[in-house]
Amino acid sequence: MKIPFLSLKEVTALRAVEINEAVQRVVSSGWYLQGEENERFEKNYADFIGTKYCVGCANGLDALIWIFRAYIELGIMQPGDEVIVPANTYIATILALTENGLKPVLVEPKLNTLEIDKDLIEAEITSKTKAVCIVHLYGRDAYSEKIAALCRKYNLKLIEDNAQAHGCRHNEQRTGSLGDAAGHSFYPGKNLGALGDGGAVTTNDEKLAQTVRMLANYGSSRKYVFDYCGRNSRLDEIQAAVLNVKLKYLDEDNDYRKGIARYYIRKIQNPMVKLPDTLPEESNVFHLFPILCDHRDELQKYLNDKGIGTLIHYPIPPHKQQCYSQWNDVQLPITEQIANQELSLPIGPVITLEEAAEVVAAINAFTI
Ligand SMILES: *Cc1c(COP(=O)(O)O)cnc(C)c1O
Repeated sequence: MKIPFLSLKEVTALRAVEINEAVQRVVSSGWYLQGEENERFEKNYADFIGTKYCVGCANGLDALIWIFRAYIELGIMQPGDEVIVPANTYIATILALTENGLKPVLVEPKLNTLEIDKDLIEAEITSKTKAVCIVHLYGRDAYSEKIAALCRKYNLKLIEDNAQAHGCRHNEQRTGSLGDAAGHSFYPGKNLGALGDGGAVTTNDEKLAQTVRMLANYGSSRKYVFDYCGRNSRLDEIQAAVLNVKLKYLDEDNDYRKGIARYYIRKIQNPMVKLPDTLPEESNVFHLFPILCDHRDELQKYLNDKGIGTLIHYPIPPHKQQCYSQWNDVQLPITEQIANQELSLPIGPVITLEEAAEVVAAINAFTI
């Protein structure tokens, strides 16, 4: 592959000296869980996002699971309650609800933003609705004052899935600080990625933060005392140390992604290819660069033959998956159209402008 979709090896190599030093420091410390690196990362990340609390956990799926489980333990939600989510999200958002016995109410996205259609939310609110979970998919800010106002009007929690949008802003505020709580993933390929799994919950709600912390550590309030039937879902010290290094460069890396994205937006000109509407500079950190094309599969094969790596996010929407066979007959035409037409172009902190120019030239020369 001449131009890989994303070379994690090169991403890590960008900061190799500092990362190796940080890992080595943990290795020789003899302390591998719930130590100084975690404490430092939780403080650094809460400061970065702009919330009072950050609780590290094992991965992004768990972060979302713990938010909803904590609301259940605190008596704010109960199994059977409904949560509104975008139908085109990554399956983890949906799994976090069904894992807790909550009912996902799937709302269509808009084709020009690929984010939840805020005008379709109110019609889905029932007496059982307890939350709206927005997903800043592809790195785009999905928050809107309209959604926040609906949550206030109907007394719903506003939860953010910020797994793809670390560092993104809505005006001055970071995504992950806009709602009542947010789940973050540090999966290696994310904008802020560890060298393995990792996740975190951010919130200004002290009770929620305390409950999440207990749930992710066996449900334990202090050593050998168990308040809840929790699980072992901790962020380890090596990952926290790596994240402490990489967090320092996150804004810089996101700016680099924005530069590549600006170039794609300016240069891609093929009537068969549609780009999502642009947002203000601060409101998209381009975790991915999605395009839509009627001949997506042909385009992907054509680019692959030229040595250009692409991925589809996501080829099968959650409601069409075997694990959710009860929804397989539900009609969500926009979500299905996106699944059939979406293609993610190479983007990240290591692709060069020359490589981006090759991608553009190839796309612009694509005919059917
Ligand atoms: C990656 C991702 C998650 C889950 O994160 P993991 O760390 O892989 O468990 C959740 N939601 C979205 C939108 C994601 O992209």
